[in-house]
Amino acid sequence: MALENVVIIGSGPAGWTAAIYAARAALNPLVIEGALTPENQEAGTLPMGQLATTTVVENYPGFPVGELGGYLQTAIDEERSYAIPPEGLGAPGEKIGIYGAALIELMRKQALNFGTRTVDEDVVSVDFGKRPFALSVSNGETVLARSVVVATGASARWLGLPSEERFKNNGVSACAVCDGAAPRFLNRPIVVIGGGDTALEDAEYLTKFASKVYVAHRRDELRASKAAAERAKRNPKIEFLWSRVPAEILGTDAEGVTGVRLASTRSPEEPTLEVEASGVFVAIGRRPNVAFLGGALELTEHGSIKRTVPFQTNTSVEGVFAAGDVADERYRQAIVAAGDGARAALDAERFLIEKG
Ligand SMILES: Cc1cc2nc3c(=O)[nH]c(=O)nc-3n(C[C@H](O)[C@H](O)[C@H](O)COP(=O)(O)OP(=O)(O)OC[C@H]3O[C@@H](n4cnc5c(N)ncnc54)[C@H](O)[C@@H]3O)c2cc1C
Repeated sequence: MALENVVIIGSGPAGWTAAIYAARAALNPLVIEGALTPENQEAGTLPMGQLATTTVVENYPGFPVGELGGYLQTAIDEERSYAIPPEGLGAPGEKIGIYGAALIELMRKQALNFGTRTVDEDVVSVDFGKRPFALSVSNGETVLARSVVVATGASARWLGLPSEERFKNNGVSACAVCDGAAPRFLNRPIVVIGGGDTALEDAEYLTKFASKVYVAHRRDELRASKAAAERAKRNPKIEFLWSRVPAEILGTDAEGVTGVRLASTRSPEEPTLEVEASGVFVAIGRRPNVAFLGGALELTEHGSIKRTVPFQTNTSVEGVFAAGDVADERYRQAIVAAGDGARAALDAERFLIEKG
């Protein structure tokens, strides 16, 4: 069984950036990308991560709108061309932003160009109790590693409505910072679902663009901190819809979301409420992808991997590093995950040097 210098678990921006750095440091990294299975589809943990599930990414530096065709077609291999659908290239002569799937494929290709090796399987369990670390992989094999970067991301919790699925990327979003500035929301009403800090932060952020932001919460009081709740209640653009849950997101394929029908949680007799909205932002929580760790790393109270050294990516196990959304409760952006991946690879490299 080969002994790896660095094994990177996860194929989002954190994983591929860690791989680029580790490969260029001659560490010959192995990326365990995750498996393309119905179970991962259901759980929202498909290979290539969250970016692959969105359309245009407008806030990743280095990708202003432009005629992307030639560059993408030469940088991305033919067999991965699913990542550049025709609409992702724009019509001839049209300028367009980078599609999430194309962006993450570019990161993968860059890592491969420097010699990164990949396995398209899941890590199902780990043994971090002794070195070298042992990772059990879904094809039944065990991978031994001197150091590990965990970059398994997080999955947004969704409502589970068929209409939510229908309008994802067409008015339904789980990321206000990513999508809030889209023209479709400008000066039009929006509904945020949730009652915690994230829901209220999202609502406040969205008031920059929307004419009005409804916050629909299933209870009659908020889970959010008092300070966030008071700020939101003072904001004249925010209106709370108490004890309400979405029953159906309304719209058409051409227009996307046009409204939401909300059921009462107080009584089934109470009539449903219909509000007009150009979008629905689901902010009911997220789940860091840590189940496969089986408690091998210390977690925070919110279930993310706990970092143990300020400004570094170290975890509770020496030689295991965490990068990206799996350890990020604050920023949750692709560029931050990528930066984290770079830090984790540099931390792993330093660890390997120190251990000789
Ligand atoms: C719809 C949507 C739109 C977004 N839009 C933007 C945007 O416009 N701009 C922006 O900056 N950010 C955006 N984000 C957020 C951004 O995508 C994330 O912050 C970023 O992808 C996090 O990167 P990551 O590498 O930490 O994890 P992820 O991208 O979540 O990748 C995690 C990877 O780990 C793999 N994995 C999980 N478990 C295992 C396992 N046991 N074994 C092996 N592999 C495993 C998964 O398959 C996946 O490949 C968006 C997110 C969503 C959901």
